[in-house]
Amino acid sequence: MISENISQAERKIACACDRAGRSREEVTLIAVSKTKPVSMLQEAYDAGVRDFGENKVQELVDKIPKVPEDIRWHMIGHLQRNKVKYIVDKVYLIHSVDSFRLAEEISREALKKQVIVNILIEVNVSLEESKYGACCEEAATLAEEISRLPGILVKGLMTIAPYVENAEENRKYFAKLKQLSVDIMHKNIDNVSMDILSMGMTGDYEIAVEEGATYVRIGTGIFGERDYKKETTKWV
Ligand SMILES: *Cc1c(COP(=O)(O)O)cnc(C)c1O
Repeated sequence: MISENISQAERKIACACDRAGRSREEVTLIAVSKTKPVSMLQEAYDAGVRDFGENKVQELVDKIPKVPEDIRWHMIGHLQRNKVKYIVDKVYLIHSVDSFRLAEEISREALKKQVIVNILIEVNVSLEESKYGACCEEAATLAEEISRLPGILVKGLMTIAPYVENAEENRKYFAKLKQLSVDIMHKNIDNVSMDILSMGMTGDYEIAVEEGATYVRIGTGIFGERDYKKETTKWV
């Protein structure tokens, strides 16, 4: 079932790339495996997926030693400063940096562990109150401030669009994030690149790809519905 879901997502991504005149290689699928057991991650891995997304530090750290080493881990959830130390040298990309103070902590831990940490700035494009993220107006300044910190590199932007019945409603937010990344790119800030746009989830990733996403984060569409009522230790 998981491998079929992945093939279907792959096909849809390819079609969306076609429609937008983009090359398929520009888009990477991240399998969002939060709350799911490592046996399911392994299935996705066996079907060819190498990028996995988690939103909780503890769960991420627990899963890492139980699955193949060449997985690229994406931290996609809200990150508390006191937990940064557990993941800086383990993740490929942190998608959810929304404050200078968090970036400072990442920089400090990166120096300690002698690594360079790649990050995205999370932007709350839709201005939903329930969401984390810098507002569009703050994003460029934040990128510039973070660019002066050692051990941390800004690689692009991330957003979480609202939950909607009709994915078309989110097109404007994806287009806005893309435009924002172009605006920031044109500022030519040292050590800041805008190569990555992380946007689109199960309900709206095709639209996100049409609007320029380079990472789509798909959970339910690959692993099925999540059951948050289960005990938290079930994933290992
Ligand atoms: C859970 C989650 C996803 C995946 O959501 P689905 O709708 O299940 O695809 C994507 N991005 C973030 C930040 C998430 O927390």
